[in-house]
Amino acid sequence: MSRRRIPKKTLSGNAPHDGTKFGDLSDAELVRQFAEELARRRGRAGATLDDIETMAEQLGRATEEELQAASIEALGPEDGTSKPCPKCGGLVPVKARNRVRHFMTLAGELRLSRNYHHCKKCQLGFYPRDRELNLPEEGEVSDAMEKRILDFGMNGAFAEAAQRWDVHYSVPISDNLVRRVVDRVGRRRENAHSRLALQQAALPSPLHPPKWLIVAPDGSMLLTREHGWREAKVGVVARGESVIPDEAVIEPRYVAVLGNQDEFRAALKAALDAELADDVMRIVWIGDGARENWTLAEDLCPFAIQILDFIHAVQNAMACGKKLLGENDPGLADWEQRIRQLIDANSPDAAIRELLDCMDFCTTDEHFTALDTLVRYYRTNDKRMRYTEFRETGLPIGSGIVESAHKHVLQSRMKQAGQRWSVLRGRRMVELRALYRTAGPRRFHWAIREALKTPAAHQHRQLPNGPRRRRQSQTPSRVSPLGRLSASN
Ligand SMILES: [Zn+2]
Repeated sequence: MSRRRIPKKTLSGNAPHDGTKFGDLSDAELVRQFAEELARRRGRAGATLDDIETMAEQLGRATEEELQAASIEALGPEDGTSKPCPKCGGLVPVKARNRVRHFMTLAGELRLSRNYHHCKKCQLGFYPRDRELNLPEEGEVSDAMEKRILDFGMNGAFAEAAQRWDVHYSVPISDNLVRRVVDRVGRRRENAHSRLALQQAALPSPLHPPKWLIVAPDGSMLLTREHGWREAKVGVVARGESVIPDEAVIEPRYVAVLGNQDEFRAALKAALDAELADDVMRIVWIGDGARENWTLAEDLCPFAIQILDFIHAVQNAMACGKKLLGENDPGLADWEQRIRQLIDANSPDAAIRELLDCMDFCTTDEHFTALDTLVRYYRTNDKRMRYTEFRETGLPIGSGIVESAHKHVLQSRMKQAGQRWSVLRGRRMVELRALYRTAGPRRFHWAIREALKTPAAHQHRQLPNGPRRRRQSQTPSRVSPLGRLSASN
């Protein structure tokens, strides 16, 4: 392995003379004085690396703070003339002079005084200097600081986030500040005009339509203050070529809502649009068997191949087995093995036959109901249970993708011990987490601002059921696993 040399910076021998505390010292002189101070302390107590590091950090911070204050100072006072309104462009005179704003930056606290203008025509107040410096429109922290606090707040409970912050930075912050930052960014996300813009800012659309797409929606329960347990819906949209079986998905899109089916539909549609789903020839929709799931599939992707998630097909059989045999019956393991064998076929017929044979041994109504429910479930979904065929064509049969999505999109942040969410904050966090997981930590904060730049689209009439491409036969072709390669072009 080659070791790259980091070019050494040479310290300047010129003092800036900018009137600040260290302004009459050149960089080289500053460092020399620092080393002398260390040597003095060493003489007294014997400085450890810890001491040296802390001192270097403190000195660095003091310099940063000075530098920041001096740079703001250097801007000079505002000229007090009329300034263009950001909305209508008309010139607007100063309404109030020298309004002070304090805020925290990574280089320390900053005090800024600036002029306030108010456009009567637009009923809009603005601070030209804030805009010039690109300060966030509201709040008490700089953009760079907001981005970092947000990252902590997205990954842990607010109190823990504040503590972790203190490990990394020397300016302490409160739990409440973390909460306010997350709230503010949550509101900003809500102000974005389109979910599609958010999806595309989080993860750019592919240049060409992917060969195939997997869509997998599912539900997960969250504890709310107002209504107890409420279902959060999570969906994954992944490019087929970026799924590594049984391992991972590269760059999936996530959507999540703590709300009704219409909101979920809108969120999922945006993710599909961002993946150019209308031009994708094969879409695979994996679901848990809930009716509303297939309704959504027929609505959004009418030509998708629907697959009943294998894991859910087994779980439902286990629920029935427990009713028949008892919760902890040792026979349940055999029951599971047998069901797995039977349904891993091209239809659930064999499983249904064997389940019907069990009817003879039923002694209570509860047993009958349990068996009947399972048989109905398999019959309703029989076209979606052609597992041998799906497997041979290289299609996924389990929604491991969405199961793990629940864990790392929602549960790791929102289902920690003792956590209860107000519906308002819960809704915000659910959507933020999905976007965070789609965009990744580096892009997340920027993506929300970026999406805000997209203007509101003109409301145009939507054609009913804009088809997600051509009709697919329910039987995937055995010749060409990717369906259209041989057929088109
Ligand atoms: Zn105006």
